[in-house]
Amino acid sequence: MQSANMLWVLAGLVVAVYCDVQDGGKAPRIPLNDGNSMPALGLGTFLGFDENGQKEAKELEVENAVSWALNAGYRMIDTASAYKNEEQVGKGVRMSLIPREDVFLVTKLGTNEKEDVVGSLKKSLERLNMSYVDLYLIHNPISFTPDHSKYLVIDYLDTWKQMEEAWKLGLAKSIGISNFNISQMERLLEHCEVKPAVLQVEVNLNLAQPRLVQFCQQHSITVMAYSPFGSLFESGPAPQASDPTLKALAQKYEKTVAQIVLRYLVQLGVAPIPKSVNKPRIEQNIDIFDFSLSPEEMQTLSLFNINYRKVWPSFWQDHPYYPFEHKDVPDQNPFKGSSGKNPSSD
Ligand code: NDP
Repeated sequence: MQSANMLWVLAGLVVAVYCDVQDGGKAPRIPLNDGNSMPALGLGTFLGFDENGQKEAKELEVENAVSWALNAGYRMIDTASAYKNEEQVGKGVRMSLIPREDVFLVTKLGTNEKEDVVGSLKKSLERLNMSYVDLYLIHNPISFTPDHSKYLVIDYLDTWKQMEEAWKLGLAKSIGISNFNISQMERLLEHCEVKPAVLQVEVNLNLAQPRLVQFCQQHSITVMAYSPFGSLFESGPAPQASDPTLKALAQKYEKTVAQIVLRYLVQLGVAPIPKSVNKPRIEQNIDIFDFSLSPEEMQTLSLFNINYRKVWPSFWQDHPYYPFEHKDVPDQNPFKGSSGKNPSSD
C-alpha cells in the first residue's frame, strides 16, 4: 500500500508540468488537453448549508471575496448555476479591475438544467454578464426535473453532445465534468468527439482518490480538487488542523496547516479551489508558491488518506447515474425547498 502511494505521489510530481503564461497571477498555469491553460489554484464560492438549507449570499459577500481574490493574485474563480451567486461572481470580477481575459471563470450546468444545455449556459452567461466562460462543467451525472423534485434519467452522453455544441459555439472555451466516476468517464471517453479537459472532484488529505486521479492523468484530463481542506477544520474521524505532523510541517515552512495542504495538492498535480469569504484567509490560501514539500513529506501526507468522503450526497443514491458509494440508509436532503425529503423517480 505504501509503495502504491509513493508511486502515485511521484506520478503526480511528473504530471504537474506548468506552462508559463503571464496573466499577472500568483499561480502557475497547467496546460489543458484542448490547448488552453488553467491556473493551478482558484477560489471556490459555494457557501454551503445551514439549518435552513443552502446558504444565500449576503449582500456583497461573494462579490467582495472574488474581487479580493483577484487582487491577491488569483486568476481562477469557480461558481455554478446551483450556487445562485453567478451575478455576484460577475460583479466581483468587474469590481476587481482585473481584465476579463486574464480571469479563468468556471461555471457548471445544474442537475436540473440538462434538457437545454446551450440555453442553460446562456442563462448563466446572462447572470455573470459575460459573453463566454473559460470552463463549463456538467455538475453531476445525475439529473432532475427543473423544480428538483423528481429524478430524470438523461444519459450523460446526450448531455455531453450538447456540451460539445456549446464549445463549438465558443460560449465555453473548455468543457469538462464533475463528480463522474471512472466507469462513467470510460464510457464518455469511448463516445465523445471532444475530450473533457477537466474533472472536478473532491480531493484532500482524507480522500485522496489515487485511482481516479491516476486515471485522469493517464488520459490528460486535469483534476480540479474541490473541498481541498476536507475535514481539516471539522471534528470527526479525518485528519484535523491540530494534527502534530501537520503542525510540525507548518512550523518548518513558516506556513499554516491550510497552506501545507494546498501545497501538497498542487504538488500532486491537482488544482485546489479553496473557498473563503475572509480576506486574510483568501490571501493566505494563494501564498503557497514560494516553497516545496520534499518527496518524503509528500509521502507522509499521502498516508492521511482514509477514503473519507466529505461531500457525499447519499440522498441522491437511488438515481441510476449516482457516481459514489451507496449507504445502507441515505442522509436527508439538505437542499432548500425539498423539506428534507429525498427525491423519487416516479
Ligand atoms: P473548502 O475545503 O474550500 O473549505 C472551505 C472552508 O474552509 C470554509 O469554511 C472556509 O471558511 C474555511 N477556510 C478557508 N480558508 C481557510 C484557512 N486558510 N484557514 C482556516 N479555514 C479556512 O470546502 P468547499 O466545500 O467550499 O470546497 C471549495 C469549493 O469547491 C466550493 O466553494 C465550490 O466552489 C467547489 N465545490 C464543488 C463541488 C462539486 O460538486 N463540483 C462540491 C463542493 C465544492 P471562511 O470562508 O470563513 O474562510
